[in-house]
Amino acid sequence: MTLHLFNTLSGQLDELVPADGAELRMYVCGPTVYDYGHIGNFRTFLEVDVLRRFLKLMGMRLRHVMNITDVDDKIIRNAAAAGIPIGEYTPKFVDAFFEDLESLRVERPEAIARATEHIDKMVELIQKLAAAGAAYQVEDGSWYFRLAAFPEYGKLSKKDLSGMEDGARVDVDEYEKDSARDFALWKAAKPGETAWETAIGRGRPGWHIECSAMAMEYLGESFDLHAGGEDLMFPHHENEIAQSESVTHKPLARHWMHVRFLLVDGKKMSKSEGNFYTLRDLLLKGYKASAIRMALISVPYRHQLNFTFDGLTEATNAIDRLRTFHQRLSQTSFGPGESDAIQVAAHKARAEYFDAMANDLNTAEARAPIFDLLRTANTAIDKGQFLAGDRDAVLKVLADFDAVFDVIADRDAEPTKRALAWAEQAGRQADVAPELLARVALSDDDIENLVAERTQAKKLRNFARADQIRNELLDKGVVIEDSKDGVRWKRK
Ligand code: AMP
Ligand code: ZN
Repeated sequence: MTLHLFNTLSGQLDELVPADGAELRMYVCGPTVYDYGHIGNFRTFLEVDVLRRFLKLMGMRLRHVMNITDVDDKIIRNAAAAGIPIGEYTPKFVDAFFEDLESLRVERPEAIARATEHIDKMVELIQKLAAAGAAYQVEDGSWYFRLAAFPEYGKLSKKDLSGMEDGARVDVDEYEKDSARDFALWKAAKPGETAWETAIGRGRPGWHIECSAMAMEYLGESFDLHAGGEDLMFPHHENEIAQSESVTHKPLARHWMHVRFLLVDGKKMSKSEGNFYTLRDLLLKGYKASAIRMALISVPYRHQLNFTFDGLTEATNAIDRLRTFHQRLSQTSFGPGESDAIQVAAHKARAEYFDAMANDLNTAEARAPIFDLLRTANTAIDKGQFLAGDRDAVLKVLADFDAVFDVIADRDAEPTKRALAWAEQAGRQADVAPELLARVALSDDDIENLVAERTQAKKLRNFARADQIRNELLDKGVVIEDSKDGVRWKRK
C-alpha cells in the first residue's frame, strides 16, 4: 500500500515514495517565533503529524526537517519594543512552541534547524546566486533575487504573474531594481537592528532564503516532499524554488503538500485579524488537549476547517466513546474462541481505515469504520456474542487507528497542568474556567475515597447519601458507572 497524496506542483494525486527507495526526505516550514502559536498554526503541524504517523504505520522511514524562523521583521520589532536582543526574545517562544506540540502529541521532526544558526549557509547561497546572475546588490547594500533570471517562476502556485505588480513589497519601491517583483535575499543593516558581519555585507537574511539554505544543508539539493500551510505556496515556496533551482538546476522537491486554513467565521484564523485562540486559551477554558487534536485533524488537510466550540465538544464526545469502549474491552472477561461476525467486521474496518488514509489522508472517512466497529462490538458484547479472540482483533484495529490519531490513552492531565502553571506565571488566572479548577482540585485518591463511601452508603441503604456523592462527583467531571463487574469511574 502506498499513500496517494495531492501534489500542488503536479496538480494531481501522486504516490508518495522515497526517491532513494529507503527514507522519505521531507522539509516543513516551521514557526516564526515572535509570539505564542495559535491553533491555526498548529493545525498545519498536526496535519503534517498525521502524514508522518501514517507513513510510519506503513513502515516508511523518515527524515523530516523543520526550520525555526528566529529572525524576521516581527521578531526584530517585538524584541526592540521589549528592549532586549532577539537572542533573548525568541527562546521563550521556541520553548512554548515545543511545549504546545508536546501537549498536542505532535511528534518531533528528525532535525530542527534555526535560521540564526545557519547565516553562513545563506550567505554562501546568495553568493552562488550572484555568480549565476540571479542575485544583485542595490545601493544600500541589500541583495535581491532577479525574477527575470528564473522563467519558471510561478510553476507551483500557477499564478498569472502579469497581474502581480500589485503584490510588490513595501520596501520594493525604495530601490532601483530590474523588476518590481524581485524579492529581498539579504537586508542591509539598519541602525539598532540585529545584523551579521558577512562576506556579502552587514545585514540579516530575507525570510525566504533560510529554507532554501537549510533544506540543502540537511536534505541535499533535491528531496521528496515539501510541506506548509496554504498561505506559504505564494510567494514563500515559489521563492524557495527560485532560489534553490537557480543554483542546482534540480527540482527542490518532487512533491508539495499544502494544508488548508483553519477558519473562524469564514475568515483565516490569524494574529492580524485578532480572531485567534492559542492552545493555552483553550486548555484554560477546560478543553482537553486530545479533543483539540481530534477536532483539528478530523477534517482532512485539503479541506478548510471552520473552528467552533461545538466541534471541540463533538471531538470530546468521540474520544469519550473510544476510551469507554477500550476500557470495556480491556476489563470485561469474555468466553474463549472467536466469532466470525466480529472477525469479519474487524478486518473490514481495518481495510477501510487504511484505504481512506492512503487516499490523500482522508481522516474523516478513516474515522467512520472505527466507530462502526465500536457499535458492532458493543452490541455483540451486550448479547454475550463477543469472545476473547475478538478482543485481540478489535484492539489491533484500535491500535492502528491510534497510531495516527493518538487520543485513546488518556494523557490529558499533563497539558492541562502545564497550562494552569503557565496561567499563574503569566498572570492569566482570570481566564481559567471554574469547572476546570473544580476538576483538577480532585485527586484520584479523593475520587476512590468518595466512590468507596458511596458503595458503603448503598450497602447501608442510605441512597440519599449515595446519590449526593454521585452528583457531587458529576459536578466535578467524574462519572460513576455501576456494572456487573463492579463500580467504575472516569473523568469526563
Ligand atoms: P508562521 O509562524 O506564521 O510562519 O506559521 C506557521 C505555519 O502555520 C505555516 O505553515 C502557516 O502556513 C500556518 N498557518 C498560519 N495560519 C494558519 C491557519 N489559519 N490555518 C492553518 N495553518 C496556518
Ligand atoms: Zn519555508
